[in-house]
Amino acid sequence: MTPEFQSWLPSGRRAALAEPLGLYLHVPFCVDRCTYCSFTTTRDRSLQPDTHRRLLADISTWGTALGRPAVDTLYLGGGTPSLLSLEELAALTATLRRAFDLSPLAEATLEANPGTVDLAWLQQARDLGWDRISLGVQALDDALLARLGRIHGSAQALEALDLAARAGFSRRSADLMVGIPGQSLSKVIEDARVLAGTGLEHLSIYLLDLDKACPLRAEIDAGRLTLPSEDEVADVFEALQEELPRLGLAPYEISNYAHPGAESIHNTRYWERRPYLGLGPSAASQLGNRRWTESGIIPAWTEGRGEPDVQELDAAELLAEIPLLGLRMHRGVDWGALRTLAEALHLRPLCDAWETRLRGLEKEGLTVWKEDQVCLSARGMLMSNGILQMFV
Ligand code: SF4
Repeated sequence: MTPEFQSWLPSGRRAALAEPLGLYLHVPFCVDRCTYCSFTTTRDRSLQPDTHRRLLADISTWGTALGRPAVDTLYLGGGTPSLLSLEELAALTATLRRAFDLSPLAEATLEANPGTVDLAWLQQARDLGWDRISLGVQALDDALLARLGRIHGSAQALEALDLAARAGFSRRSADLMVGIPGQSLSKVIEDARVLAGTGLEHLSIYLLDLDKACPLRAEIDAGRLTLPSEDEVADVFEALQEELPRLGLAPYEISNYAHPGAESIHNTRYWERRPYLGLGPSAASQLGNRRWTESGIIPAWTEGRGEPDVQELDAAELLAEIPLLGLRMHRGVDWGALRTLAEALHLRPLCDAWETRLRGLEKEGLTVWKEDQVCLSARGMLMSNGILQMFV
């Protein structure tokens, strides 16, 4: 923890103790690197013991510094957390219990790669208290999975979902990807049907995002592969909007569908702007008006040399984040409460300008107003990137 962080700690501690925190932990190791990946991760497993020790030390340091705050959601992401040995997972869980008050814990998610799990590992993870699993399925087509550089095939993905159920995970989520070169609309719908048929409780639909240089981007730039057009991708999302509710998976956020009551509590806290602490390389935190991201250079982070990237949000930025994130959710935003907050922050004209534009969009069928509650329509969700730009 840098001196600059220590000087800010009293206000950080107040924010951390005001309501239960969410805790995100990043495990930056993978068996192989997928061809589209832009996450902080490495295949160099020789770094794992030191990085794990540093993660445990950080958990203890932050728990003490913040006054052992209450935590109500845990999320172990990556990378591939299922590459942790059971000893490492047990030590991590015990360190969390010592450093934080987990008595209000409502959800403890771990991400897993279908190519790395077995029944014994899953059962012991479940016994340690991890109660939700998110599996990176991505597609149920071996050729597409190979194109993405995934280490698993479709049969292994379905087997991992089955193993997770047998291990006692009653809350299982899968990621499904849209926009893969060569992926047809009918295949996405078929994959969604098969996944829903396994009885999983949650499905996240992601658009393939090639924002950085990566092998898949190079293939596309060289003309060897072609991305589907924007219209084709929009058709897929529209078809999923219709199909998934028929399969019992109701939309609750732009990219997320769940059985009633199985929505991700941890991810919802991001959209509700509730406080969270992220530990591990590239992990992001938000407490009060301060947001920071840990260094994404794994050896530098492990050796304590990487400086976090810190951002202080001003009142207008804080206000804008409420609709920017809240409109991602199907229930939308309580505009009356936003107006009251804007008044208190002397930002009423800004809030009124947004309201005028959002009410205008209702005439185009993109927003739905019920008195002072506003949400995006199904078509608005498809065009959310453009609409939400007004808050950036
Ligand atoms: S499993 Fe996830 S984090 Fe690992 S390389 Fe693939 S996309 Fe990246």
